[in-house]
Amino acid sequence: MRLDGNAIGGLLGQLFTAEVTDARGSCHGCGAVGALGAQHLYMHPLAPGAVLRCRSCQSVLLVLVLAHGRIRLALRGMTWLDMGDSAVPAVWPSASRGPVLA
Ligand SMILES: [Zn+2]
Repeated sequence: MRLDGNAIGGLLGQLFTAEVTDARGSCHGCGAVGALGAQHLYMHPLAPGAVLRCRSCQSVLLVLVLAHGRIRLALRGMTWLDMGDSAVPAVWPSASRGPVLA
C-alpha cells in the first residue's frame, strides 16, 4: 500500500517529542554505536546551529541549523538511529514486541 507522505505525520510527531539523548545511533564513519547524549557537541550560544560528532572518530553525526524560522536537521553521518520503547507510538504496538536489536 502506498500512501501520501502526509500519512506518516502522526507517527513522526510522536517520535520527535520523545527524549532523544538516550537514543542510540550508529556512526556511518566508524560503526561505533552509542547514545546521542554521549557524543561530542560543538556549538556556540550565538551560532545558528550545532554539530554532533562521534566520540570515537570525530565524524559529523548530525547537524542542526535554525534559520529563517525553520529548523533543518541533517542525519547523514548516522547509519541508523533507534529510540527506546517510550518513543514507540501507541498506534504501533507491534513494534515494541519485535526482535531485540544489537
Ligand atoms: Zn565514528
